[in-house]
Amino acid sequence: MPVPLPTATTRWRCTLCGNLTRFDVTRSSRVVEYVHLDLAGEPSVEETEVLAETVESVRCRWCNAVDRIELVDRPGAAADGDDGNSSAESAAGGGSASG
Ligand SMILES: [Zn+2]
Repeated sequence: MPVPLPTATTRWRCTLCGNLTRFDVTRSSRVVEYVHLDLAGEPSVEETEVLAETVESVRCRWCNAVDRIELVDRPGAAADGDDGNSSAESAAGGGSASG
């Protein structure tokens, strides 16, 4: 099952727990590295060119669900200019004792 890739206006969201920020991404990439060795034989990569890159799976760090990812809009991405339309967010605090 392919993983939908986030764009400039969308982001990942775990469909099970709603996590937006923490994921383990398994990525396979094909790269060309410019390896520069010093006189002692110690290598260091000075340039990396990515030829191809594929996201194989995404695991949620909160609930460990694999590939249960959907794309949602980033905050502010859908807004096209300030309209001054204030939405009242009421706190859902129904603190009644059950029993
Ligand atoms: Zn999750």
